[in-house]
Amino acid sequence: MIRVRFAPSPTGALHIGGARTALFNWLYARNQGGKFILRIEDTDQQRSTLEANKAIFHGLEWLGLDWDEGPNVDGDYGPYYQTQRLEIHQKHAQQLLEEGKAYYCFCSPEELDKKRKAAADRKEAPRYDGTCRKLSQEEIKKKLESGIPKVIRFILPPEGETIVGDIVRGKVVFKNDLLDDFVILKSDGFPTYNFACVLDDHLMEISHVIRGDDHLSNTPRQILLYKAFGWNLPKFAHIPMILGKDKARLSKRHGATSVIDYSAMGYLPEAVLNYIAKLGWGCGDQEVFSREELIQKFTLKSITKSSAVFDVDKLNWLNGKYIRQILPERLFTLCEPLLIEAYGNHDVEYLKKVVSAFHDRLVLIPDIVSLSTYFFQDVTEYDPGGVEKYFKTDKAKKVLETLKEKLAGLEPFTRESIEPVFKELAKELDVKLGMIIHPCRLALTGTLDSPPMYDVVELLGKEKVGLRLEKALSSLL
Ligand code: GLU
Repeated sequence: MIRVRFAPSPTGALHIGGARTALFNWLYARNQGGKFILRIEDTDQQRSTLEANKAIFHGLEWLGLDWDEGPNVDGDYGPYYQTQRLEIHQKHAQQLLEEGKAYYCFCSPEELDKKRKAAADRKEAPRYDGTCRKLSQEEIKKKLESGIPKVIRFILPPEGETIVGDIVRGKVVFKNDLLDDFVILKSDGFPTYNFACVLDDHLMEISHVIRGDDHLSNTPRQILLYKAFGWNLPKFAHIPMILGKDKARLSKRHGATSVIDYSAMGYLPEAVLNYIAKLGWGCGDQEVFSREELIQKFTLKSITKSSAVFDVDKLNWLNGKYIRQILPERLFTLCEPLLIEAYGNHDVEYLKKVVSAFHDRLVLIPDIVSLSTYFFQDVTEYDPGGVEKYFKTDKAKKVLETLKEKLAGLEPFTRESIEPVFKELAKELDVKLGMIIHPCRLALTGTLDSPPMYDVVELLGKEKVGLRLEKALSSLL
């Protein structure tokens, strides 16, 4: 049975990197008919918060990454919050102590700090020097009785190497003498990340550990723990980092990093999902994948070794593509509150028509507000380039005047009746149709780019069209 997990520490929002890790795990589980488990690694009590926890759920839900076991979804391997598993962690630490694979350490933070500084002075890596490993049973007993704070450290093999066989990276060799006797249980009785992670992955029967390659250096420590317990190793797949365009690790400097910020900025979840799937995973040149296609095509083997670069232009391109595919009703639901906020209440049918006019022009949902201004407010400025090109011509006055007259008498005022007016006028004045449409567009919208002209004319209505043509004419003088 394939069982994978996403194991975030609830210390902040769900970031793009975390979401990508969650997605790869989810895709692998769905592709293999396995289980996707959400485990909250909340043992860092100072940094874990309830809001962050909620933000992670929210981010995952927005992307549609549902978990089969985890918070709010019962499973046979719970609890799924690490802080509710402390007894399990402590029991296993005790087991290692009893088997002579771990020891109590009573060194105070000040002493450890001194040791670290001394090592730095000797230009050595800061490693614990094993002072407490040498304590006699008698000394240990005394110190325990005196109640001074203690941690439990894991005994590392003094030499040799630990090999990580990684699905993405291949074989990665770590020299054991670069590691030290690391803490597994802290003085407050909480496990450290490496310890809790191994216990919970094993007890939850995780078959594949798929995570960011910033954790690769933790893996030899984890492997040594598996070996100390005599447990089988899961398979490891460390996925490459995500970088900004400047090749530095993706961070706040590069703009929004939290998934929910993307939702607020007007991205569709399917576009973000599609985009992050491609960060470090590929399937030929294909860029656009439905959720089902991703599930079908995802393999761990095709995760790339090299880091991925986050390119917001590409994400925008995908978002526009996905917006064009969604149903008008869904687009309207997303746009309506933004329009009402910007322009106040309007007739729903009118709002629907405005949204629909821009359906294939939006890159981000809030673009609807800036693009549709002239449907809600008078035109106060004209595009200067447009003025040169279309208002300052010999025929501009004639064009706008005649158009105004003809449209004023037009009944009914619909796209179908408007179109012939433009065409006949072009013939009458012996100009190209564009020489009617462009000046008219400039007069009605102030811009050179709008949805199809006849739609705009119909939607604005006879009265507004008349007033705006009039206003443009007066600006010609
Ligand atoms: N809690 C760790 C993190 O958020 C999980 C790492 C892992 O997947 O093992 O980075």
